[in-house]
Amino acid sequence: MTSRTCSSVVSRLTLTLACTLAVVAGPSVQTRIVADKNKYTPADDVKLGREAAAQVRKEMPLVRDGAVDEWVQSVGRRLANAIPPEFQHKEFNYTFEVVNQKEINAFALPGGPMFLNRGMIEAAKSEAEVAGVMGHEISHVALRHGTAQATKGQKFQLGAILGQVAGAVVGGTAGAIIAQGSQFGLGTYFLKYSREYESQADLLGAQILARAGYDPRQMANMFKTIEAQGGGRQPEWMSSHPNPGNRYEAINREAAMLRVEARGDTGEFQAVRGRLTAMSPAPSAEEIAKNRGNGGSGAGGSAPRAAVRVEPPSTTQRTYKPGDFLRVTVPANWSQVNSGEGGVTYAPEGGYVEANGRSAFTHGVQFGVAQGVSGNLQRDTEQLLQNFARSNPNLRSRGSRRDSLGGRSGLTTVLANTSDVSGRPELVSVSTTQLRNGNMLFLIAVAPEEEYDNYEGAFQRVRQGLQITDR
Ligand SMILES: [Zn+2]
Repeated sequence: MTSRTCSSVVSRLTLTLACTLAVVAGPSVQTRIVADKNKYTPADDVKLGREAAAQVRKEMPLVRDGAVDEWVQSVGRRLANAIPPEFQHKEFNYTFEVVNQKEINAFALPGGPMFLNRGMIEAAKSEAEVAGVMGHEISHVALRHGTAQATKGQKFQLGAILGQVAGAVVGGTAGAIIAQGSQFGLGTYFLKYSREYESQADLLGAQILARAGYDPRQMANMFKTIEAQGGGRQPEWMSSHPNPGNRYEAINREAAMLRVEARGDTGEFQAVRGRLTAMSPAPSAEEIAKNRGNGGSGAGGSAPRAAVRVEPPSTTQRTYKPGDFLRVTVPANWSQVNSGEGGVTYAPEGGYVEANGRSAFTHGVQFGVAQGVSGNLQRDTEQLLQNFARSNPNLRSRGSRRDSLGGRSGLTTVLANTSDVSGRPELVSVSTTQLRNGNMLFLIAVAPEEEYDNYEGAFQRVRQGLQITDR
């Protein structure tokens, strides 16, 4: 089964001089922002963010350079100190780290951990542009948008954010379907902010920037730079921070209302960017993911993947909880790969790979939630299979049977396919069951045809061992 891959082209901007700012004097009015209701405590935000940040640090290469670190900390501290008192939470701890990744991106986790891609700093024209993105991210954290968004829906989970963070493995068939409108996705709450929250973060970001001594209009400039990258493909940052409409005009309008006493240009930013551009080029998200798949050796290597030997499923089991409503028990030698926008995959080492510019999984299971349309399991399943067939044109059904998924009635369809990775025949079984909110949980199990006997029992145990506890 194959998945879409997100790769983006980074436009490296030519070096231009940071613009010197004049004092923008204006009436001291600003848009009043009110944080949404939130059923979580600030301590919950901290806990969620801390756990996710630990995983980011484990999976993503960080730039460890004294001068770079010192600079990013000083910009970050200046912004964090400029958060208006009503949005300061004493529990929060804003931290700032640079990820050695070339795509222009940045993200902040609940409670304060922020990660900036090296590509973003290299593409910025000035410290104020970097501060612009940071001010926007800090605003999402201060307004507690992640958990506020989760408050509006019923479920949320943070693990899947890492697929997005890792970047290379976006969506997959499962994720693509979830992205079409389910409010139930695993982890989607932190992956994409609502337009309303985007405009809040733009406005509060502008206010924070002004208080910290940066021209808020530089935030709008940086967004344009981000938007311009990607050559037709939507940059990662833009898909998690959708344009609420008239974004640049709204930021500039707010900026005109704010009093800015801009700091002078210290030259620090140019020095930091100089250090970064002198390092060996930052790897792409795809290279990082590939490298991780290779056990961390040989950065950017592109060894043929089909030769990887995959261990058969072990007889001992391991249980994961990929979402509030789901427990999954899989062979102990499979690990969880969060596949971006929504899908969660459990695969043995070597069973989840990058090939021909696409990501694919050859061994293991993938879970996702599809939006229920007809309320009829059989009809919704047929629709789902048609969607899979679009990205897997060789898929051929071998028939469906009634099945049990975690004690609920479901359907399992076995399909024959040709693996994109090995070019060899594989068998795919797709199992579905309805959730109480009308959506459909699905499980895709894949193994090469010649190894299928080793996997059939394991797949059956995964289906039976599921615990679905949606209400
Ligand atoms: Zn945003």
